[in-house]
Amino acid sequence: MTIRVLPPALAARIAAGEVIERPASVVKELVENSLDAGATRISVEVIDGGKTLIRVVDNGGGIHFDEAATAFERFATSKIDENSDLMGISTLGFRGEALPSIASVSRAELTSFVAGQDAGVRASVEFGGPVAVESVGAPAGTAFVVRELFRNTPARLKFLGSAGTEFGRVHQVVATYALTRPDVAFSLVADGGERFATPGRGVLLEAAASVYGWHVARELLEIEASAIERPSSAFAVRGLTSTPGLTRGNRNYMTIAVNGRWVESRRLLFAIEQAYHGFLSERRYPVSVLLLKVPPGDVDVNVHPAKTEVRFLREQVVFAEVQRAVRAVLLAAAPVPAHQATAPQPPANPAWPENPLWFARGMSSTPTPPVDTPDRTSQSGQEAGTARQEERPTPGRSLPVLRVIGQAHDTYLLAEGPNGVYLIDQHAAHERVLFEEIRARLGRPAEGGQQLLAPESVQLLPHQERILNEQGQVLKEAGFDVEPFGPRTAIVRAVPRVLAGVSGADALVRLLDSLADGSGTSGWRERVLATIACHSAVRAGRRMTVEEGQELVRKLETVEQPHTCPHGRPTMVYLSISALERDFGRH
Ligand code: ADP
Ligand code: MG
Repeated sequence: MTIRVLPPALAARIAAGEVIERPASVVKELVENSLDAGATRISVEVIDGGKTLIRVVDNGGGIHFDEAATAFERFATSKIDENSDLMGISTLGFRGEALPSIASVSRAELTSFVAGQDAGVRASVEFGGPVAVESVGAPAGTAFVVRELFRNTPARLKFLGSAGTEFGRVHQVVATYALTRPDVAFSLVADGGERFATPGRGVLLEAAASVYGWHVARELLEIEASAIERPSSAFAVRGLTSTPGLTRGNRNYMTIAVNGRWVESRRLLFAIEQAYHGFLSERRYPVSVLLLKVPPGDVDVNVHPAKTEVRFLREQVVFAEVQRAVRAVLLAAAPVPAHQATAPQPPANPAWPENPLWFARGMSSTPTPPVDTPDRTSQSGQEAGTARQEERPTPGRSLPVLRVIGQAHDTYLLAEGPNGVYLIDQHAAHERVLFEEIRARLGRPAEGGQQLLAPESVQLLPHQERILNEQGQVLKEAGFDVEPFGPRTAIVRAVPRVLAGVSGADALVRLLDSLADGSGTSGWRERVLATIACHSAVRAGRRMTVEEGQELVRKLETVEQPHTCPHGRPTMVYLSISALERDFGRH
């Protein structure tokens, strides 16, 4: 084949592949253009997750009549020129690629009006064809409509997810910008229903409440720019991050912006996770919004056409500052002095804080005191030697009758049995008991559910709504009485009896999140039950009286599988009398 330069329309379509992958990428580019145009109000509307229609309307500076056609040309931009320093870019766009890319794979139309001009402009392009320009009346600002995305690129079209999946991604983009720019009023409408709207008053917490709901916002701690020890440095972190009491099962709730640009940085996400070390259990993630200010010359945004990847000149510094800023607010808000969170000392004040989870996680970073006896393997029932066989706790289903003596480390119940001593993990044991209790009542919601005093409404994110729709029946069997109430809202009337006392709305949202995240192979029913049990079981770190402990152990004695929690962790370890006698040299 002869070597030829590709015709511009085809070249644009190939290039579009890098910038425009799915409806969410169109939304991202258009929202960025609106922000660059100085808009203070941006509304995003999609139909079928953006597959049928995407509309972004702003009140920004607008596009002049004479320039409308040029805007659709490749590498046409008003944001940089030949003298610009690519390392110091302050606008979100600069590559001049978005509009031609979008127009090459859709029916695109822009309507714009620049204040003070006589008339507005409408320009439209169909699948990379010629630009048609006409003069129209229009409100100040720009409206962009994109229809039939990827109709001319069937391969791309095939790779799109369902309308629900694509909407989930659109939601994430708009939510992210709404959080990144609380000074701009964003609204998101899907298939005619409003999903959220932020007030745009510059208050980050207000924006977070609009996007995530107040039940999340009230658990967010504020990171002030002043939390940085060296305010003189051009580097600053501010934002919000959740108390360890509010966690999510995935990283979708961690938003990072650098100089107003949303970035996807695994390194920085990891820095946040590191800051929570010892506060959160594995595979739980906080809700965070971090707005970073970095000297413009210190960050390179021209790494990838989608511009969400950035490179930092001093990555280590950025990483360390993020970690420190987040850690600082966590420790400041923690109910125990910082040194106690990492040193194995009993707290000076034996009264436990309101939120037991918080404390439990804090203490879980405590190094366990050495309990290394030569017999540790047989205690956990791991050793296969036949001589030990009779020393094991009764194998199989039943437990011997146990007498609770006390509690160690506010986490383990200490009990005496006929042939030895048992250490029982109170959380794991309670999980098992609750799991079997709920399972026994399954399908009898009247018995399993506890009516809330007043029905509570709860705002749902798309993935939560999806799980609720798909697994509504299982949730109902388990005792939830939940009803859809408008597009992103549900009304909770009853919760499983074991969750009573926890707020209904919180319980449901946390459950839906855990379920959305889980990749377990076991059936949905088991997962729902195990998750409910886990959320309602007594936490490690909660002091229990001997009577409470005895009550729990009584129940454990009656369950079918007392030796493991629903996730398969052991509920107890066993020290046989003969092992003790040997260790103390009695035999
Ligand atoms: P870039 O954003 O990289 O400059 P785009 O292809 O996204 O390139 O946009 C091309 C140009 O069109 C922009 O530089 C800007 O001048 C103009 N433009 C696009 N969208 C808007 C908008 N919503 N309001 C005002 N001008 C816009
Ligand atoms: Mg742009």
